[in-house]
Amino acid sequence: MADFLFEPHAPVSIPIARGGLFAVRRVYCVGRNYAEHIKEMGNDVRDPPFFFAKPADAVVVGGAAIPYPPQTSDFHHEVELVVAVGKDGADIAVETALDHVYGYACGLDMTRRDLQAIAKKAGRPWEMAKGFDQSAPIGTIEPASAIGHPDKGAITLSVNGSERQRGDLGDQIWSVAETIAFLSQFVTLKAGDIIMTGTPAGVGAVVRGDVIEGEIAGVGKVRTVIA
Ligand code: MN
Repeated sequence: MADFLFEPHAPVSIPIARGGLFAVRRVYCVGRNYAEHIKEMGNDVRDPPFFFAKPADAVVVGGAAIPYPPQTSDFHHEVELVVAVGKDGADIAVETALDHVYGYACGLDMTRRDLQAIAKKAGRPWEMAKGFDQSAPIGTIEPASAIGHPDKGAITLSVNGSERQRGDLGDQIWSVAETIAFLSQFVTLKAGDIIMTGTPAGVGAVVRGDVIEGEIAGVGKVRTVIA
């Protein structure tokens, strides 16, 4: 037993459909990947993708409730296709990028939109708007060996049963393969990394008591409640 000052934290893990656990190393997120959402946020569709990160322990699984976070009065939902990386690589070619995908899930990139707006205006980092505690509820991972590599299909989100977001994976500006190739030019991807691939239009605020349900056709669901 190493001489740790305190017991190291256990890895955060996401359940895999049909059994097993996917231990999370890092959580990367694509900033903008659906034209209609880019327009609703007042940005230029032609901009290349950019990335930010959340800490691994922001991941919440099993449909657990999440708290309404401090330091915001504009807490937003973003439903996203989540890519689970299963094979290490850097400078990955688009043509072989999908070989690095273990599987897929449906997830939520929860956002303190008011803090993000302040950060954008001031040219400051997004961490406190995006990478806060329990900001990434994620559903079960479906292996690509079972479901393939989805590149079309409805991605939707409802709050209290009322639909708020609807898009199609086919409307992603950057495909999963292109996203992996692009991101791996900046960082070495490792098994255990997950990539949240951006949200379609319709983002909006939630309040305490709201039930959020996301679904991606052929991939799966995610659910949480704002406690
Ligand atoms: Mn997002």
